[in-house]
Amino acid sequence: MEATHIGMGTVMAHAAYGPNAQAALQAVTHEARRLEQLLSRFVPDSDVAAINRTAGMARQTVSTETLAVLTQAQALSALCGGAFDITVAPLVDLWDVQHATAPPAAARIRRAAALVDYRDLTLCQNTFEAMLRRPGQALDLGGIGKGYASDAFMRLLMSMGITSAYANLGGNVSTLGARPDGAPWRVGIRHPRGDGLLCAVEMIGQAVVTSGDYERFFIDRRGKRYHHILDPRAGRPAAKGLISATVVAPEAMAADALSTALLASGMEAGLDWFSQYGAAQAILIDERLNLYCSKGLGGCLQTVAGVKPILI
Ligand code: ADP
Ligand code: MG
Repeated sequence: MEATHIGMGTVMAHAAYGPNAQAALQAVTHEARRLEQLLSRFVPDSDVAAINRTAGMARQTVSTETLAVLTQAQALSALCGGAFDITVAPLVDLWDVQHATAPPAAARIRRAAALVDYRDLTLCQNTFEAMLRRPGQALDLGGIGKGYASDAFMRLLMSMGITSAYANLGGNVSTLGARPDGAPWRVGIRHPRGDGLLCAVEMIGQAVVTSGDYERFFIDRRGKRYHHILDPRAGRPAAKGLISATVVAPEAMAADALSTALLASGMEAGLDWFSQYGAAQAILIDERLNLYCSKGLGGCLQTVAGVKPILI
């Protein structure tokens, strides 16, 4: 049984199997709407919009759930040394890759980049308050929200007795258990420069989340590509050699943040911190279309003819 709808700016396609599947999928569709209201900075009465509105001025009381998401996001930012940073909004708005046709001026990039620092988000676990330290700072959960949502969907499906399901949020895939016939799920990873797939990974009960420079981007009149994953320190689209980064992990939220962070970090710096995060595996593609894959994934990765993964 399947359900498809639009949410969080993407197409969401879910499937669940078993007697309660129809009700469960309906609940997931509702949950998607609820989470968008909670976490989108574009919904004026969301917790996130409230924090952004009073940046540098006042604390906001937020829900337990918002506080938990922000706390985990901040921990993930610390893990990767700020390559993933939920205070990236000033840069996201400045670059506006959906509409821009040329990069912004260097002085504006410097000003916006100076506002980005996840350590300026103050969270109080006792009073449920959150605040950004400086005016002009703002949160953007675009790099982690879909991951959080898919984890929430899996929990919801499980609570309704479902043992076999998946959620696909615009290419971010989460799975619950195995396929109805007991076989592993097979998730394809797109060729970053062509049509179709470059490889596929087989697994049970894991999330597979990809960040790529081909998802949202513009090309300027010199032919240079500017994509939507920003290197917070440089203040511009990440250009560290990777064009696609996939993380396979039990939790989609971590996989979402860490795949964005790997793309922003590049392979060398990225593998440094990634190796400290035990529960996840990576599949990386560089500009020359070399395919790198964590040793632990070896047996689960299938590639198209001629592509041989390099183990990392
Ligand atoms: P997608 O949402 O396309 O699957 P990502 O999960 O990589 O891709 O998230 C990209 C989005 O996250 C951007 O559109 C932007 O809103 C936000 N973002 C961009 N760069 C960063 C970053 N370095 N850290 C955190 N969020 C980012
Ligand atoms: Mg992400």
